[in-house]
Amino acid sequence: MDFLLDRIAVLGTGITGTAVIAKLAEMGVSPVDPASADVLVVSPGIPPDQYPECPGIVMSEIEFAYQLMQRMPDPPQLIAVTGTNGKSTVTAMIAHILSIPVAGNIGVPLIEWVGRNAPMIVVEVSSYQLEQVKEFRPEVAIITNITPDHLERHKTMARYSEAKAAVFQAQTSDQTVVILAGDPWIESIIGTSHSEIRRVSPEDELTRTVADHSRAVQAEGKGLGLIGAHNHLNAAMAIAAVLPFGMSVPDALARLTDYAPLPHRMEWVATVAERTFFDDSKATNPDSTLVAVAAFHQPVHLILGGKDKGLELESFMRTLFETVSTITVYGEIADRVMGVAHAERCPIPIRNVVTLDEATRLAFERSAPGDVILLSPACSSFDQFRDFNHRGDHFKSYVRTQIACPST
Ligand code: ADP
Repeated sequence: MDFLLDRIAVLGTGITGTAVIAKLAEMGVSPVDPASADVLVVSPGIPPDQYPECPGIVMSEIEFAYQLMQRMPDPPQLIAVTGTNGKSTVTAMIAHILSIPVAGNIGVPLIEWVGRNAPMIVVEVSSYQLEQVKEFRPEVAIITNITPDHLERHKTMARYSEAKAAVFQAQTSDQTVVILAGDPWIESIIGTSHSEIRRVSPEDELTRTVADHSRAVQAEGKGLGLIGAHNHLNAAMAIAAVLPFGMSVPDALARLTDYAPLPHRMEWVATVAERTFFDDSKATNPDSTLVAVAAFHQPVHLILGGKDKGLELESFMRTLFETVSTITVYGEIADRVMGVAHAERCPIPIRNVVTLDEATRLAFERSAPGDVILLSPACSSFDQFRDFNHRGDHFKSYVRTQIACPST
C-alpha cells in the first residue's frame, strides 16, 4: 500500500482530527501510535512544541488531504485563501462567483473532500494549517493581508509571515498568487514565490470598479455583502482570483450582486429606539476592529473584550479615540485595556465591566438615537465563550430578547 496509508497517526480529537480518522476508516485504515508512525497528521489547534515523538513525516491535515487527492483520478483544482483578516469573506465570495464548494477553516475540513467528486474547491487556510505543508499546490493562492495576530503561537511577525508563505511555496509559474499590494509583511515573503504574482490594492482600478458597482446596486437594495471599503477590496481579490479560470470581471461582479455577508461579520442585529446594533464577533484582532469602525459614518459605541492575546494596544486605542464615541470593555483583556486607556489619557468615555451582557446594556444606555452599537471585540472569545459564533449568537440573542423586547 501507499506509504501515506501504511502507518498513520492522527494528532487531535477536534473537528479536524475526527474528520481524518473518519476518512481513514472509510479507506479501511486504522491509526497507529505516533511512536511507530510513518506519517503523523496534525490538527491546527495543537502547537508544534506539543507534538509527540514520531519517527515519520509530520504533515497538516491540509497537506495530507492534498497528497491523497493527487493519488486519485481527477484531483480537484484548488483555490487557497489565507491572510490575517478577510479570509472567510474572500473564500465565500469566490465560492459564490464560481458556484463551487468551500472547505478548510470556513467549514468542513479538506480531508472530507478526498474521494468525492468536486472539480474545484476553494479552501480557507489559517497560518496554523500551513505550519506543516510541503507539496500543497493550489492553482490560485490568495494572501489578503498580514497584520499582528496569533503571536502567542508564532512568537514573531517574521515567523507568522513565513507560515503564510507555505500557501504559495510549491506553486510554479503556471499558478497564480494574489496578494495585497504594499503590505510590508507580504512583501517580505513574496520574493521566494515562483508563481505569477497579481497585486491588488485599495486604489487600483479593479477595486474602484467594485466600489462603483457596489454603490449602484445598493441604490436598488442589493449588494449587501459588498458594504464597506474592506469588502470592496475583498471582492477585488476574489475577482482577481477567478480571472485565471476564464471568468470575466463583469460576470464576476454580476454574480457578487446577490452575495450575502457571512454571519458575525458586520451583521445587522436589530434597530431599537433608533439605535442600530451590529454583530462583528468575528473581529478577533485590532486591525479587523478598526476596519469595522471605519465602515460607519454614525457615532459608534464600541464593545471590546475577550481573551487577551498580548497584542500591542497603544496605537489601536489611539485610533479608536479618534473614531468612536464610547468604549465598553469586558472580559479577560479589560484590565489591560483600561491601563492603556489611562496611560494614553483616553479622551472619550470608557468603562470596564465583567460580562458581554453588561457591556451591551451599558453601551445601549450611553447611546443616542441614530447611533450604532457595535460588537467588534478585537480579541478571541475563549475567556467566556466556545468560539466567535457562540459569542455573536449570544450577543444577538441578548439584544433581541433583553433590549429589543425585555420580558417584563
Ligand atoms: P477571517 O476569516 O480572516 O477571520 P473574515 O472574512 O471572517 O476574516 O472577517 C473577519 C473580520 O475582519 C470582519 O468582521 C471584518 O471586521 C474584518 N475584515 C474583513 N475583511 C477585511 C480586510 N480585507 N481587511 C481588514 N479587515 C477585514
